[in-house]
Amino acid sequence: MLRPVLRFAPSPNGLLHLGHAYSALFTSVWAEALGGRFLIRIEDTDLTRSKPEFTEAIFADLAWLGLSWEEPVLRQSTRFPLYAAAADRLKARDLLYPCFCSRTELAASSTGTDPDGAPLYPGTCRHLSAAEVKQRFAEGRVANWRLKTDEAMALTGLLTYSVAGPTPADRPQIRYARPERWGDVVLQRKGTPTSYHLSVVIDDDAQGVTHVTRGRDMEPSTDIHVLLQMLLGLSSPLYTFHKLILDAEGKKLSKSKGSTSLRSLREAGRTAEEIRRELGF
Ligand code: GLU
Repeated sequence: MLRPVLRFAPSPNGLLHLGHAYSALFTSVWAEALGGRFLIRIEDTDLTRSKPEFTEAIFADLAWLGLSWEEPVLRQSTRFPLYAAAADRLKARDLLYPCFCSRTELAASSTGTDPDGAPLYPGTCRHLSAAEVKQRFAEGRVANWRLKTDEAMALTGLLTYSVAGPTPADRPQIRYARPERWGDVVLQRKGTPTSYHLSVVIDDDAQGVTHVTRGRDMEPSTDIHVLLQMLLGLSSPLYTFHKLILDAEGKKLSKSKGSTSLRSLREAGRTAEEIRRELGF
């Protein structure tokens, strides 16, 4: 029998906090309710920020919370050639272009912001001639490779995705994807053959993920994910967006703000049972 497949996919660039604990517990509860499999995937494509000690801490903290998952765990850093091959397929269809702009140039030329609040790219490098591109590469410059989002959308037509929840018993709803609000997104970051968006759709397909469960704040990225799934002929899972765990000021927890880690809660004597109960599990 084909069983549903769910995954928790943390990036090992810091210690897990209560928001991650909620997401991991939520996913494992759904997996159980659906009679499905529960996988962990380590999203370590950012080689400067990902650290092996954080990967080890993720396993230790999840086990402490009482979770168990299937082995072997897929680590994205072992799959760069696959991501590069997928990007090459898009390049062969002339759907990607190299962008040499620096962060400062980007911020200065931007015409608005994407759903993450990052500057929207005005398409400056999209107008470079083949000779200019060649010249820049010959000078040893590195590029971000961006998707020609409007051309990609013209190929795929209107896209939708299905959202399930808030409980496994609820009927899924259909939502429209709006990739245009992201502009020409980066699919290969300078110095890496991939980006979050590209790796996530390739691996969800490769691992047979049927249900993607992630925080509500990540719903907008589904616009790009369904577009890539269609372009690359990948499967499109059912999506569930869960609530976010907020701090005392009502802000989303984050590693960069130094939100209290599970590790420090444990060291302060809090038990996994208390944490689970506090989070509603
Ligand atoms: N790796 C991403 C993160 O830690 C989330 C992955 C996903 O749910 O697609 O924010």
